[in-house]
Amino acid sequence: MLEVNNLAVKPDEEVILRDLNFHADPGSFHVIMGPNGSGKSTLARTLAGHPEYENYRGSIGFKGHELASLNPEERLLEGLMLGFQHPPRIEGVKIERFLKQVLNKLEGYEKEGEKEEAIKSATRALDFPEKVLNRNINDGLSGGERKRLELLQARLINPDLLILDEPDSGVDVDSLGLISREMNYLHDNGTGIILITHYGNLLEGLGGREMKVHLFKDGKIVTSGEEDLIREVEEKGFNRIYEECDCN
Ligand code: ADP
Ligand code: MG
Repeated sequence: MLEVNNLAVKPDEEVILRDLNFHADPGSFHVIMGPNGSGKSTLARTLAGHPEYENYRGSIGFKGHELASLNPEERLLEGLMLGFQHPPRIEGVKIERFLKQVLNKLEGYEKEGEKEEAIKSATRALDFPEKVLNRNINDGLSGGERKRLELLQARLINPDLLILDEPDSGVDVDSLGLISREMNYLHDNGTGIILITHYGNLLEGLGGREMKVHLFKDGKIVTSGEEDLIREVEEKGFNRIYEECDCN
């Protein structure tokens, strides 16, 4: 479904991503880990079509089409969604109105009542009080609530592929539980997931799901493995693993 080949990104003088290859099948589950500054968020933003990174080299194929010519919204409608590492606050746009605008672009929500019902039900699932819908986007929301609001959008949009950039950073234990529960729900409903994270703690709730784990170093994936690679990272740290796999 996603085919990234020889991706290179160089927004100014410095090369951030280089020779990056990454493939994800429909409904698959991938975890990306790597030191700070190794390029994980840049990969996520490049895939989502962030304008800073639109002059990439190499190819990004999604469902058989090259993504280069699609803007972020078109990519979202194609089924590729990014949850930001730092979801921005947007002045003057109420959460409910924004969610309705999103649903207006999707199939299956023709009637106003269907939209309202879907929004309410997703709001409950992410454990928000209904009155949150009257707030401006991310206005006065805690770190954990912002991340949960992104997942609420994912539940409504039901993307084919969801990239989550550190949904566990700056999040309390209760939100962590909700986030991993929601990842389970989305994955059970066929969404492929690419999870960028520093820790294995989100994965405890994911109950032995088959996953591929990829380690980033200096703008590319240097080694990949199964779930036990996460524990290895936690025990040894990146540098020792890179030495052992001759990835330096
Ligand atoms: P990670 O998410 O792995 O911590 P990032 O992808 O955020 O890493 O950043 C990788 C490196 O690329 C950092 O050194 C960052 O400063 C740099 N970088 C990211 N975006 C740009 C940009 N638009 N212009 C110049 N440098 C950038
Ligand atoms: Mg990052």
